[in-house]
Amino acid sequence: MTITDQPPPPTKRAIDKQALLAKYRAERDKRLRPDGNDQYLQLKGQLSHYLDDPYTPFVEREPKTDHVTFAFVGGGFAGLVTGARLVEAGVRDVRIVEKGGDFGGTWYWNRYPGAQCDTASMIYMPLLEETGHMPSEKYAHAPEILEQCQRIGRQYGLYENALFHTEITNLSWDEAQSRWVIETNRGDRFTADHIGLGTGPLHVPKLPGIPGIETFKGHSFHTSRWDYGYTGGDPKGAPMEKLADKRVAIIGTGATSVQCVPHLARAAGRLYVVQRTPSSVDVRANVPIDPDWFKSIATPGWQQRWLENFTANQAGGTAEEDLVQDGWTDLSRRIRAKIMTLPPEQRSPLNMLAAYEDSDFEKMEEIRARVDSIVTDPEAAEKLKAWYRQLCKRPCFHDAYLQAFNRPNVTLVDTDGQGVERITEKGFVVAGVEYEVDCIIYASGFEVGTEYKRRAGFDLVGRGGLKLSEAWAEGMKTKHGVHVHGFPNAYFVQPTQGANLISNVPHNLTEAGKTIAAIVKHALDNGHKEVEVTREAQDAWVELLLSGPGRTMLGSPDCTPGYYNNEGQDPGPAARLNVGYPAGATAYFKYLDAWRRSGNFEGLAFR
Ligand code: NDP
Repeated sequence: MTITDQPPPPTKRAIDKQALLAKYRAERDKRLRPDGNDQYLQLKGQLSHYLDDPYTPFVEREPKTDHVTFAFVGGGFAGLVTGARLVEAGVRDVRIVEKGGDFGGTWYWNRYPGAQCDTASMIYMPLLEETGHMPSEKYAHAPEILEQCQRIGRQYGLYENALFHTEITNLSWDEAQSRWVIETNRGDRFTADHIGLGTGPLHVPKLPGIPGIETFKGHSFHTSRWDYGYTGGDPKGAPMEKLADKRVAIIGTGATSVQCVPHLARAAGRLYVVQRTPSSVDVRANVPIDPDWFKSIATPGWQQRWLENFTANQAGGTAEEDLVQDGWTDLSRRIRAKIMTLPPEQRSPLNMLAAYEDSDFEKMEEIRARVDSIVTDPEAAEKLKAWYRQLCKRPCFHDAYLQAFNRPNVTLVDTDGQGVERITEKGFVVAGVEYEVDCIIYASGFEVGTEYKRRAGFDLVGRGGLKLSEAWAEGMKTKHGVHVHGFPNAYFVQPTQGANLISNVPHNLTEAGKTIAAIVKHALDNGHKEVEVTREAQDAWVELLLSGPGRTMLGSPDCTPGYYNNEGQDPGPAARLNVGYPAGATAYFKYLDAWRRSGNFEGLAFR
C-alpha cells in the first residue's frame, strides 16, 4: 500500500458548538425512518443466491453420528482461539462446525479487494506468538489474516475434526446423558459434552429494501461474496481487468466500501459510489513491519503485553507508553488530554463528558478539513463530510478512499440521506435520475439488530426444554457474557457483558478462550459431567452491569441512524444489557484472570 497523504495540520478555526450540534441534529433527523431495521431485506427465498459461497466448492460427505468432548459453532477467530486453548489443555477432540468452506469466519467471507484490518495487526491477529507469525504490515490485508486462521487450524489439528459448509439446525441439551445433541443441514446428528458458540456479530449479509431490487437485469452481488469470476482479479490485489469496460455502482459507504472503492475506482470503466451517509475517514498510515524491529520486540509474552497496552490506552486505562499508536489510541489520548486540562476538583462526570465532547468536535473538524484538503471538487468534498460525533458510526481509516473521488471515472452519487429511490432493470434511480449500470455491488452491511435466533439460524434448547430466545426474552443475561443459567456446558464467545472492547474484538475472544479451556479442563480433571452458572451468580453479574454508566460511547440516540444505535429507533429496555464490565476493559481482563487462576470459578456449579 502506498501512503499518499499525511495528517492535515490541526484545524485552527474556532468551533461554534451550537451550530455544529444543530447541523448534527438536522443531518440525523433527515435520515430517521419509521421502518428502522425492517428497511433491510433478509436473504432468503428469491434472494438466497446472494449467500452462495463463491470461494470453495461444496463436497459431499457422510453424516456424523459420533461423540466429541467439545463442539464449537463457528470457525472464525472465536472458534479458533477457543479450540487452540482447549487443545493446549489436553482436549484432543474439538469439532468446529462452520457454514463457510474453511476457517476464517468474517475473513473467510470478506475477500473484497482492499479488505484489511482496521485495528493494528500486532494486536488484531490472534495467536501470533504461538504460531510464530510476523505480520507483514501494520494493518494486514485480508489474505494474510485468512492464512493466519488456517495456520491456527493446522497447528492445533483443528482441521481433522472440522465440518465445513455445515449449518446447525438444532442444538439441544440431553438431560439424561448430560450432553448436547447437535443436528445439522448435512444430516449430522452427533453429541458433545461441551459446546461453544462463536457465531460473530456481523455474519449475516443484508440488502437494502430498495423497491425493484429484484428486477435488475445486470450482475449484482454483496461485498461479502465477491464475484472475482465477474470482476477479474483476486483478493491479493491482482487488477480486476474484466471491469475495464463496465459501469459499476457500489451502494453503501461504510467501512467495507471505504476499503474497496479505491480498487474499484482503478479498475472500472465508470464507478458510481452511491452514498446515503458519509463515513468519517481518517489517516491510515499503513507501513510494512520491519523484521529487525519485530525481532527486537518479539520477546516471550510480547503479544499479551501489546494487547494489554492497547486496551490500557484505549479503554479507560492510564498506560504511559502507547505501543500501538493508531487512530483508536489517538482518540482516547485526546479525550484524556482534554480531561487533564481540567483542574482536579472540576473533574466531575458532567465536566468530563463536556471535555470528551470538545475533543470529539475537534477531531471531527479535522476529519472534515481532511476531506477539503484531498477532494478537489468542492461540491463532492462537501458531500463527503461526516456530520456526527465520531463514534456514532464506525470510524474509518484510509489513505486512498477520498482520493478516488478525484478520478475522472468516479462519480459520487449522494442521496442526501435518503438512499436509493428505486432499482430498475437497467440500473438505479436517485432523485429522479436513472443511472444505467452493468453491475451493482451491495456494500450494505450485515444484520445486527435482529434476534440472536434469526442470526444464528437455530434456537439453543437448554435444561427442561428452555429456549435461549425465552431465557433472553427481556435481554441478554449471562455471567461474563459466557455462561447462561439453564444452559449447562455451553459457552458464548463474544464481547458483550464482558470487556465489551469493540476496538479490538479478538482480545475479548482470546481471553474467553483461555477461560473456557481452564473450566473444561477443571471439569474433566475432576470428573464433573456438568458445569452451570447459578441463577444467583448470573443475577449478581447482571446487577453489576446495570450499575455501570450504560451505553455512553456507542449507539446514542442523538446519533445519525446506523447499526450502532438500532437505526435510530428506541431499542427497548433489553438494550440496557448490551454493555460491558462497569470498570472498563482493562479492569475486566484483570478480574477475569484472577477469577480463572483462583481455580474456584466462583459462580459456577460443577456436578
Ligand atoms: P455498514 O452497515 O457499515 O454500511 C452499510 C452501508 O450501506 C451504509 O453506508 C448505509 O448507509 C448504506 N445503505 C443502506 N441502505 C441504503 C440505501 N437504501 N441506499 C443507499 N445506501 C444504503 O456495512 P459495512 O459492510 O461497511 O460494515 C459493517 C461493519 O463491518 C463495520 O461497521 C465494521 O464493524 C465491520 N468492518 C470491519 C472492517 C475491518 O475491521 N477491517 C472492514 C469492513 C467492515 P447509512 O450509513 O445511511 O445507513
